[in-house]
Amino acid sequence: MTTFDALGIDARLVQATDELGYVNPTEIQEQAIPILLSGTKDFIGLAQTGTGKTAAFGLPLLHVIDAKAKHPQALVVCPTRELCLQIVKEIELFKKYMTGVSVVAVYGGASIGLQIRDLKRGTQIVVATPGRLIDLIERKAINLEEIKYVVLDEADEMLNMGFQDDIEFILKNTPQRESTWLFSATMPPEIRKVSKRYMKEPAEVTVGKVNTANKSIDHQYYVTSSQHRYETLKRIIDFNPGIYGIIFTRTKIDAQEISERLTREGYDIDALHGDLTQGQRDKVMGQFRDKSLQLLIATDVAARGIDVQGITHVINYELPDDVEVYTHRSGRTGRAGNVGICISIVHSKEMYKFKQIERINNSKFHKLDIPSGKDVCRKQFFHFMEKLLSADISHGDYETYVPMLAEKFADVSKEDVLKRVAAMEFDRFLKYYENAEDLNFRDRNRREQSDSADQGRRRDVGKGDNRKDYKRGGGYSRLFVNLGTKDGFYKASFLQFILDMSDLKKDVLGKIDMKDMNSWVEIEKGAANQMIRALDGKNYKGRRIRMNDADSGGGRKPRRGEE
Ligand code: AMP
Repeated sequence: MTTFDALGIDARLVQATDELGYVNPTEIQEQAIPILLSGTKDFIGLAQTGTGKTAAFGLPLLHVIDAKAKHPQALVVCPTRELCLQIVKEIELFKKYMTGVSVVAVYGGASIGLQIRDLKRGTQIVVATPGRLIDLIERKAINLEEIKYVVLDEADEMLNMGFQDDIEFILKNTPQRESTWLFSATMPPEIRKVSKRYMKEPAEVTVGKVNTANKSIDHQYYVTSSQHRYETLKRIIDFNPGIYGIIFTRTKIDAQEISERLTREGYDIDALHGDLTQGQRDKVMGQFRDKSLQLLIATDVAARGIDVQGITHVINYELPDDVEVYTHRSGRTGRAGNVGICISIVHSKEMYKFKQIERINNSKFHKLDIPSGKDVCRKQFFHFMEKLLSADISHGDYETYVPMLAEKFADVSKEDVLKRVAAMEFDRFLKYYENAEDLNFRDRNRREQSDSADQGRRRDVGKGDNRKDYKRGGGYSRLFVNLGTKDGFYKASFLQFILDMSDLKKDVLGKIDMKDMNSWVEIEKGAANQMIRALDGKNYKGRRIRMNDADSGGGRKPRRGEE
């Protein structure tokens, strides 16, 4: 059996691991530590949580940093505040016998002032969540100039949570980076992409089995017409009585309006969007986390970084254009070994998008019929019966009232009692769903729709096989705008920004291509001028926005390879 000593780590670290009771290195430690101790190699470690990966990178980091220099030399980026604190705690234990070494945690939801103060004291290792780190970079409160080692921990989770752009930003802003060590439980294509772009011939170590996609999520979709989207959402919620879920919308206006409408109709829901103050946001998140709120409706930007356990359903009120956004959304469920369901409400014209998502995500979609009113009532009924039967009657608080109950119900049969309970519980549903219409989209000109996204796509072939052709055929203009990801936009936030500015509905938009400095927006010809008028010449963060028709010679055409 190998020992920590034999792996070549500093004697002071061996002493600390001894005291922690680590007799032998775990598999990932045994394989990773010798590679990482060389200090300059890029590395990918595919290992689940619980395999000892924190020590696998923590010990080598402590070994290679220069304790005399008091500036940040190593940066560990991880998805959540909890993990951030856990990593710091372990590194603190490992460095017990190393004098002059400091590690600082920076994460969202805590005072940034205190964290800036900690950083100012001088530290060699910073452990950070992506959002807070970027905040600190923008405030110039952290100096990444001399970072040599970057560790991305739980990289797949970070991508699932929508942090891809942040991670790329961080990697781009560490100019002296010599080593990038990436740890992940799975190896989705997005991680390969990041590693190809930012790492040089990384050594790769796999411990245990690695999945390429999250197989614990069932991807389902319902096809309806635009005017039935809201009713379909309600029916899906009613059909899943124990639901604990997040609904995603593209714009904050939709999130707000749907939340208000559902609240008025008695649903347990609140909205999370960019207009909330930090205090309001924390309140909504707190209620959702402790399950006093059953449903959360959110835009992609507002939901970034949400990490809540036990989410049963993610519902896409509309399909996002971007496969990555779909992956981030669906990744909110099916976590930590649980199974989850991701439901999309789609219009028949959107079905071609599934093929691409299926290919990239390595997952299959299931088309389901929107439940009828009868289906919903039956489901609610069964749920209620289960609840009644599994009610906890072990504690005796109510027992003093039992004789009274017995007397009151002496002449009422058990069957009648049940009927009365059912009537009380279900009248609302039964009335509402009595004459509920069929919300399924039925294409009168074609055969009944079948069970696969493949079929859906084939049917759309005549209209053009991808969104671009389809949109182009319908009379679309292409607008150039001098805003891009460098301005801090993601596709979803950019979409929301241009819609908010122009007061247009998202239906008028086609494909959006975003680059660092510029973007190109497809838009229905009739709406193009309204968008140009709303944006061109306005200011964004002190810069003048320039927007014009890219195809009429005004804007810069994308260079070859940019499209
Ligand atoms: P991690 O995968 O880093 O979250 O580690 C999981 C748990 O294993 C933590 O509680 C560590 O303290 C513990 N651990 C890590 N390495 C070893 C080791 N070599 N021997 C015993 N326990 C370990």
